[in-house]
Amino acid sequence: MPLKSLTINGFKSFADKTKIDFTSGITGIVGPNGSGKSNITEAIRWVMGEQSAKSLRGDKMVDVIFAGSATRAQMNHAEVTLEFDNSNGELKSDQTNITIQRKLFRNGDTEFSINNKACRLRDITEMFMDSGMGKQSFSTISQGRVEEIFNSKPVERRSIIEESAGIALFKQKKTQAENRLSETTDNLHRVSDIVSELS
Ligand code: ATP
Repeated sequence: MPLKSLTINGFKSFADKTKIDFTSGITGIVGPNGSGKSNITEAIRWVMGEQSAKSLRGDKMVDVIFAGSATRAQMNHAEVTLEFDNSNGELKSDQTNITIQRKLFRNGDTEFSINNKACRLRDITEMFMDSGMGKQSFSTISQGRVEEIFNSKPVERRSIIEESAGIALFKQKKTQAENRLSETTDNLHRVSDIVSELS
């Protein structure tokens, strides 16, 4: 499931629409301090569904929108697009090219889409869960995160291993099934009460 490209427009320091193509081999991005290297990894986490403004080094989510500079006005929205090659069918879709996009407007409106079709954040999360590419996955590791992993508690470290081993999706499905089972058991109890009242 190779990452083919990243397009950033209006996200943090990227006032101009910028496309980065990831061709085969290693792509390195170099630049002086403050030139926006970390903003690139943050753009990837953001489009994958990051919901914590703090982990994107802001106070509120709208802080990710280009705030303006001495020569340019602030922008009204941020937009990030990631393109994947799904010819190996790793992602649960029959499309060989998958494009996911997130937009955020200054009034707080957010839009997510998969292959230009509006979707919920949950659809993106589920599509990438256990693919190694989720917002919390280890394909993007920010500065400080390595230390955080070393210093994490055993339970937290276990969840890291589970995510890497690809069983997080099954754990989530198990919890959903358990919740449904508990609701059904409650309903059965209610029916049984009604039956005993009527007989
Ligand atoms: P370093 O090498 O020091 O880690 P870096 O290349 O990773 O730096 P970033 O941290 O990605 O740089 O970028 C920081 C720059 O992004 C700062 O100049 C900051 O002003 C700018 N920036 C962050 N948010 C916004 C925003 N909303 N609008 C405009 N510029 C922003």
